[in-house]
Amino acid sequence: MQPVAYLRSPYRQKFAIPRQPNLVKEAIGDICFVDEFADANCLRGLEGFSHVWLVFLFHETADKGWSATVTPPRLGGTERVGVFASRSMYRPNPIGLSVVETVAVLQQGKELRLRIRGMDLLDGTPILDIKPYLPYADAIPTATGGYAEQAPAQNSDLQFTVEFTPYSLSQLDKIDFKICNLKSFIKSVLQQDPRPAQHVRNDEDREYGMHLYDFNIRWRVSAGHMEVLSVDPVELQNGLLPWKV
Ligand code: SAH
Repeated sequence: MQPVAYLRSPYRQKFAIPRQPNLVKEAIGDICFVDEFADANCLRGLEGFSHVWLVFLFHETADKGWSATVTPPRLGGTERVGVFASRSMYRPNPIGLSVVETVAVLQQGKELRLRIRGMDLLDGTPILDIKPYLPYADAIPTATGGYAEQAPAQNSDLQFTVEFTPYSLSQLDKIDFKICNLKSFIKSVLQQDPRPAQHVRNDEDREYGMHLYDFNIRWRVSAGHMEVLSVDPVELQNGLLPWKV
């Protein structure tokens, strides 16, 4: 199988990527088709569909193998469930599946992109296939959700308020970023509590950094809320492309 496209995602590293799609709706990204599939004919008829399924490779962790049981963050990272009862990236075939909202088809010269919203994927993820989401067949209102019945943020124990320091607000004021509202994006990412399950129990005042779009965001947990300390433009290294569209 050959990827048909690669994703340009705001999530430049694994840390802080939401654990499922549509939890952070502000996240905007572009599916960039490889030359062979950069043909608008391949997308004909997609206009009427609000969402698509993405079938993709967990390329960053593909060489890490798998085991029969995994510890989903939802169960506090301590309880084990079977790999096929999980959405873990460590699977016999490292293939992921996410439903995302479509925003627009963008065509510029020979380049073809499908702009999407709400992804849970790393920048550079190889996309194996794209299929329209069919509400009549794919949405099952009576379905039960096992150990993940509710969206995580609906559990009030996990809901954090997010505050910005005056310094980070003054930085945000000076940033001219048109792709999405950077402040609400940062807020939504933090409300998902990106910390590894082991840290959640005991890490008051530990500082974290996360790389979103072309910015490095420093934050910490303090007195039960998340506090954004700074938002700095990043010097891009390792072949990362800038996020100027
Ligand atoms: N919705 C998908 C993915 C769920 S796991 C599915 O159910 O199959 C989501 C996590 O996968 C993210 O939080 C991130 O840590 C990880 N991830 C996203 N893109 C990845 C990639 N290209 N390689 C490895 N891990 C990735």
